[in-house]
Amino acid sequence: MGSASIHPVERPAKGGKKPLTKGWKKLELSFLTEELAKEYFHCDPPYNIGCVVRPPHVVIDLDSKQDDGESVLEWLNSQTELTSIPRERTGGGVHIHVRCDDLPVFKKAGGKPYEKALVAPLNDQVTAELYFDGLNLVLSPSNHKNGHTYCWEVFGDIPTVTWLELQEWFGFEEPAGCKVKPVATIGDDYWRRYRGDLQTLDIVAVFQKLRLGCELVDADEDKYAVECPWRGEHSNKDQRWSSTDSSTVIWKPEDKFPSFNCMHAHCEGRRLQQVLEFADSGGVNIDEYCTTMRVWEPGQCSKDERPRVILPGPGRPDSEFADEIGVAGPRSTSGSTTVNRSSFCGLCPSARITNTLASILCNRLRPERTWNSMFRRDD
Ligand SMILES: [Zn+2]
Repeated sequence: MGSASIHPVERPAKGGKKPLTKGWKKLELSFLTEELAKEYFHCDPPYNIGCVVRPPHVVIDLDSKQDDGESVLEWLNSQTELTSIPRERTGGGVHIHVRCDDLPVFKKAGGKPYEKALVAPLNDQVTAELYFDGLNLVLSPSNHKNGHTYCWEVFGDIPTVTWLELQEWFGFEEPAGCKVKPVATIGDDYWRRYRGDLQTLDIVAVFQKLRLGCELVDADEDKYAVECPWRGEHSNKDQRWSSTDSSTVIWKPEDKFPSFNCMHAHCEGRRLQQVLEFADSGGVNIDEYCTTMRVWEPGQCSKDERPRVILPGPGRPDSEFADEIGVAGPRSTSGSTTVNRSSFCGLCPSARITNTLASILCNRLRPERTWNSMFRRDD
């Protein structure tokens, strides 16, 4: 993933948002050494925490300043796709964190990058802004000039969404007068059309649902003889299908995309993509046949089973939250699946989550003690 560059911004008394570092737009992850972090975030009062957004991370800032975010929450509660996406409560609304792999690059007519957040009004009270590559925003546990402390209020994995979804949900549009460079995608990305992870697709069940013959012929190769969806175009269309006919086959190796091959001339070039399109048009919902979603959905664990975590509150003691956060927190640098269960002491919950966000967004993780000490607030 991209790397969100953490850096100091002004204290709340001075507005709480303006970056202190010259050239902050070009900051790299390596900028914030342990010494600098201590200097900026351990002093009294500490500076606020800024984040230069880097792709594929994008942030949607929803604001209703006139009622301190009440209208934002009201609008959000009517949007079932959005309510469970991780977000921070800000001074005037929320910051929703997502990942978008296909956000276009916006360039001004002269060729320079467009460097303002996209703005879209959602209703009379609520405005949405989209923060993308090179834009700065304030992270938890910073303090807003109105006295509010930024904090995480919905936890979980950062989901991947599409540019189209961002446009549909929030009404964002390409900025007027800008040249739009679509993000180059590598190879054929038809799989983006599905919310399900095709590596977990039960293709055998799809063939059964389509009432097409499908029988295992070689368990070592995970190879099945199948009845071709386009059998009507084959030269032998009048013969009854049998599993001894190995001219049409599928393979379903574990943790890989299934593949399809039909040797009949009319089926040349027909691959998994075409089979899925055929199934789609036959009313089969491919996503329902995937055991894991590629796109994050409420209540779902990530592939490596990182859970969503509920904030402390009524009926939810801090100790329980701390215990879970210990499990859900940043991973260590050595060994990608190791989970650190670390001390909760001296670290407020939102700081802990900011650590987690950083660990999700960073390419190379720093040793955990670095992140801990970076965001520790002695209050
Ligand atoms: Zn065929």
